[in-house]
Amino acid sequence: MKPRAYVETWGCQMNLHQSEGLSGILEAAGYALVDHLEEADVVVFNGCMVRQKAEEKVFGRIGAVVELKRSRSVLLGVGGCLGQIHGADLLKRFASIDFVFGSSGHSDLPGLIEEARTQRVAVLSEPVFDTVNRFKRSGTISGMVTITEGCSNFCTYCIVPYARGPMRSRPEDLILSEVMRLREQGYREVLLLGQNVNAYGTDLEKAVTFPELLSAVADTGIERVRFTTSHPKDMSETVFRVMAKRENVCRHLHLACQSGSDAILKAMNRSYDRRHYMDIVKSGRKWVPDLNITTDIIVGFPGETDGDFERTMTLLEEARFGSVFAAKYSPRPNTRGAELPDDVPQATKEERLERILQRQREIALEENGRFVGNELAVLIEGRTKRGELFGRGDDHRTVICPGDAEMGEFVTVRIAGASASSLSGGILERECVGGMT
Ligand code: SF4
Repeated sequence: MKPRAYVETWGCQMNLHQSEGLSGILEAAGYALVDHLEEADVVVFNGCMVRQKAEEKVFGRIGAVVELKRSRSVLLGVGGCLGQIHGADLLKRFASIDFVFGSSGHSDLPGLIEEARTQRVAVLSEPVFDTVNRFKRSGTISGMVTITEGCSNFCTYCIVPYARGPMRSRPEDLILSEVMRLREQGYREVLLLGQNVNAYGTDLEKAVTFPELLSAVADTGIERVRFTTSHPKDMSETVFRVMAKRENVCRHLHLACQSGSDAILKAMNRSYDRRHYMDIVKSGRKWVPDLNITTDIIVGFPGETDGDFERTMTLLEEARFGSVFAAKYSPRPNTRGAELPDDVPQATKEERLERILQRQREIALEENGRFVGNELAVLIEGRTKRGELFGRGDDHRTVICPGDAEMGEFVTVRIAGASASSLSGGILERECVGGMT
């Protein structure tokens, strides 16, 4: 019987995609992948530590493996950003962890597991581009494709440059061949991934810019092309021109703002100010009408005054985001932010977070309401718990539509209702490709 492996992922889409690589490597090495921790002989946690809460959640899951180890032999490995930052300390802190791995170089995972059968081991990664070419993908409709790894920006609050190393761009030919492969396998969408996709190519010998790469990916004929994440300092108008020209480049931009206050942006080392951010928003909407812009916001960064926070609130009004991922600041080890006094009281952070989320819900409801009566091309991704179909418009809005269609099929939906988080309506036509009319 094949040994059974279970991979659990915490964190961002980069981590999710890396877990697809981990699963592919384990499967190729003869492991049977299982869906439940309780069934596994080897448990792998691919962990995040961008926020303290994420880190605590992974540590909280270790207890389930300890329980399992009481009745039989199980190996536990912890890796990703969490493994890279804590390294061998994890072995000292948790007697139940058998092996630790880093944020890249996963090809060695089966060997590491074998080593861990005789002695506990921690192997961290050099910042290389992993050579994984066999992914066990979690879906069959949208495929993630890494275009850059690591980040060289050193925002003061962020651990990513320490966990993942400097930004490395993946050669264009490898990206294009992976997109072509996905297309041949029936995928209808690709999501180009990187911590800062707009800086793509700046480290390559044969310089290829992100807009050039985006055009080349669009040329492969894959039906939808998405990308994330964009950094305002590297975002250029040329990207919007490509979006405007290419029907298959989706009208969605995730552009992290983090704060509406210039003083806080400076303290965060974000390299742009509010005016620059809003210039990008306006330029995007000039080139791509109905561009859905989503963002990340941190509340309670050290030194954030009531006035700074109110500037973030007014940015919400000006930018009219489709959705916002907001979080309370928590200091991360090794970062420059950790040297600053974490001086915004917890209760103030919570109150500010709630105000952001509340106002954003209202804005999202107003923005979504504008779509009622329109027709939208929706790529069907699954069914809700209530059995209705759901999918996404090309601007990344979730659309719920009762009726019949295949997973991965394009349908035209007439929008009849809107909430803060989704649109809903009936299917007018099946299998069509195009934008909103
Ligand atoms: S751009 Fe800043 S926030 Fe984003 S990954 Fe890099 S250092 Fe972190």
